[in-house]
Amino acid sequence: MKLNERGLLVVISGPSGVGKGTIRKALFEMPDNNFCYSVSMTTRKPREGEKDGVDYFFVSREEFEKKIQENKFLEFAEFVGEYYGTPVDYIEKQLTSGKEVIMEIEVQGALQVQEKMPDAVFIFIVPPSKQVLYDRLIKRGTEQVKDVEKRIQKAEREYGLAYKYDYIVVNDDIENAADRIYAIIRAEHAKTERSIHKYHKLMGVK
Ligand code: 5GP
Repeated sequence: MKLNERGLLVVISGPSGVGKGTIRKALFEMPDNNFCYSVSMTTRKPREGEKDGVDYFFVSREEFEKKIQENKFLEFAEFVGEYYGTPVDYIEKQLTSGKEVIMEIEVQGALQVQEKMPDAVFIFIVPPSKQVLYDRLIKRGTEQVKDVEKRIQKAEREYGLAYKYDYIVVNDDIENAADRIYAIIRAEHAKTERSIHKYHKLMGVK
C-alpha cells in the first residue's frame, strides 16, 4: 500500500537556455515514472516544431487576459514581454489522481505557487558556468540577438532568487541532472510530514 497517494507538484525553474526542456524530456523517459507535464499557456509565438497543446497552448493576448479575469491560472507572469501561465484545473485533477505534476516555469510564477501550494517541491536548475548558458542560447538560435540579451539579463536577476528554492541542480549533463531530480522526488515522498498521517491511520496509531 502506498503511504502517500496524492501526487507531488514539482516546480522546475532556471534561466532561459539552461536546458530545462531537455532535462524534462529525459525525466519523462525514466522507468516507472508517474509524471505528467503541466502544459502552460502563452502569448509567445510557437517556435519551429512546437505544437499547440503539447509544448504550450498558444493564445492571443486578448484570450490570455480574459483567462486572468476568469481566475483560470494557478499563477502567471510576463517574461520578456509575453504572458505565460499555468491552467489551474488540470493540476488539481492530476495531483488528486496520484500523478507527479511537473511544472516548468520562471521565477515570478514559482513564487506565486509557493504562496498557494507550499507543499510543492521547488527545484532551480543552474548552468555549470555563465558562458555555457550564453553559448547555448546563441547556438539554439530560436531568439534574435536582442532577445538573447534580454534573456541573459533576466537570468542574472533569477539567480538572485534561487535561494527561495528547496534544491539547486547543476545541469552539467542532462542524464545526471534528470537522475538527481528523480532522486529528489523519491526522497520527498518519503518525508515524514508527507506520509505520517496515512501511516498512523494504517497502524491504528492515535
Ligand atoms: P520560453 O519562451 O523559453 O519557452 O519560456 C520562457 C520562460 O517562461 C521559461 O523560463 C519558462 O520556464 C517560463 N514559463 C513557461 N511556462 C510558464 C508558465 O506557465 N508560467 C510561468 N510563470 N513561466 C512559464
